Amino acid sequence: MATLTKPVARPEIRNTQCYINGEWVDALSGKTFETLHPATEEVIAHIAEGDAADIDRAVTAAREAFERGPWSSMDARQRGKLMYRLAELMEEEAEYLAALETLDNGKPIRDSRAADIPLVVECIKYYAGWADKIHGDTIPISGDYLCYTRREPIGVVGQIIPWNFPALMAAWKWGPALAAGCTIVMKPAEQTPLTCLRMAQLAHEAGFPPGVINVVPGYGPTAGAALVKHPQVDKIAFTGEGSTAKIIQADALDTFKRVTFELGGKSPNVVLADTDLQAAVDGAHFGLFFNQGQCCTAGSRLFVEDKIHDEFVDRLITKNSSRRVGDPFDPQTEQGPQVDHAQLEKVLRYIDYGKQDGAECVSGGERHGDRGYFVKPTIFTGVKDDMRIARDEIFGPVMSVLKFSDLDEVAERANNTPFGLAAAVWTRDINKAHRLAAKIRSGTVWINCYDVFDIAAPFGGFKHSGIGREKGAAGLDNYLETKSVIVKMS
Ligand code: NAD
Repeated sequence: MATLTKPVARPEIRNTQCYINGEWVDALSGKTFETLHPATEEVIAHIAEGDAADIDRAVTAAREAFERGPWSSMDARQRGKLMYRLAELMEEEAEYLAALETLDNGKPIRDSRAADIPLVVECIKYYAGWADKIHGDTIPISGDYLCYTRREPIGVVGQIIPWNFPALMAAWKWGPALAAGCTIVMKPAEQTPLTCLRMAQLAHEAGFPPGVINVVPGYGPTAGAALVKHPQVDKIAFTGEGSTAKIIQADALDTFKRVTFELGGKSPNVVLADTDLQAAVDGAHFGLFFNQGQCCTAGSRLFVEDKIHDEFVDRLITKNSSRRVGDPFDPQTEQGPQVDHAQLEKVLRYIDYGKQDGAECVSGGERHGDRGYFVKPTIFTGVKDDMRIARDEIFGPVMSVLKFSDLDEVAERANNTPFGLAAAVWTRDINKAHRLAAKIRSGTVWINCYDVFDIAAPFGGFKHSGIGREKGAAGLDNYLETKSVIVKMS
């Protein structure tokens, strides 16, 4: 994409209904809900508010497409071609999709153009390539038998996603499900339904048969819960809060649904004294403040070795003081607003907790302006492991700096959390880097980098950060059943 010099115009909103069985329809109740632009708090659209009745219609369509429709007999290679066509249409509309994402979520246009939408396209292309490469084994079992396995799609999948990377979370879920041959009912987050709905329109234009992809916007306890409980849904893939995952796990139990969860984190980012200091400062700053701190992987516990602590913090503060916070449609803006009022309040509450608990706020520490959900990028030093800002996922632009002096000590402290999503280590010493990478219990460890998200690398959480993996070949497993076929040879 060309470099932008001027603010981008706000996009027109084209899709606001439910997309069910290849058609755009209102919610059966006729109800709608508002979605806002977080930078101005203005209502930008009224979206169909799906509930149990709409979910039932969508699941029925998905079941029909899976069992009997053209999808059920389509060649795997043809499925891959359709997916590739979808990715091409997304690529053609990339500028529009990026602007729509910025409008609904508030993230800076430079991020939605450079990260979100290109990663969406890459994800769908990557999984398009997998569609005709999913196959079983032949297994030498004892006796006069032929044994082989088939990898079959799990069926109808319910997919429930959060608001922090709306289009990308949809792509991470659609890609492997479609490649495996499943059909989909997706419920986007109520804060950010717009790009997911647009992606459904592009799937329509690409030629996906009716019922293969259905999108029902609505709220979690109504539409989301109905999807989880529906007896005709075979699997739920969920990204969001651990507390929501517990409800989903309980709701899914009755129907023995398979569940995969991508949940929260409190990721340790460990900086050793021998590191390239400025690279680590830049990486740590990016690793926390990217996407307004609204990343499940945010490096929110920054452990800095005592020998370099003071200089490191000075450089962090200098970097932070020039961060450009403001209109997300301005290509110069580096930080936009938090996604909604509830998140703004939560982040400000945690800033108060940091101050009350005795940490020192050395940068930011308050709301930015009085319109829109902006928070100044905030840095706390002198943070202790048991403070609330060091324990809980804040999901906002609040960095906690902790001091350490020894490798074993920092490994133990890094693991002293119920979460296990991501971590990073900054050092020039390859032995220390790999020792720590092996010791830290998390699904991803970055060494001398942060938030590198290639679609081919598996991603997910240890401990309370999730169940299962997304992305890469591992991401396909969630959408496949393995069948053994055993033949008596005569
Ligand atoms: P959330 O759990 O509140 O909502 C996520 C989705 O679940 C929304 O679509 C919501 O409507 C739906 N939902 C809510 N209640 C439900 C219910 N009872 N039944 C079914 N669905 C229900 O989470 P959020 O605040 O939107 O997202 C932030 C969280 O997501 C953070 O904890 C973050 O770390 C996590 N996250 C994790 C990853 C990852 O890959 N590990 C990625 C992004 C975000």
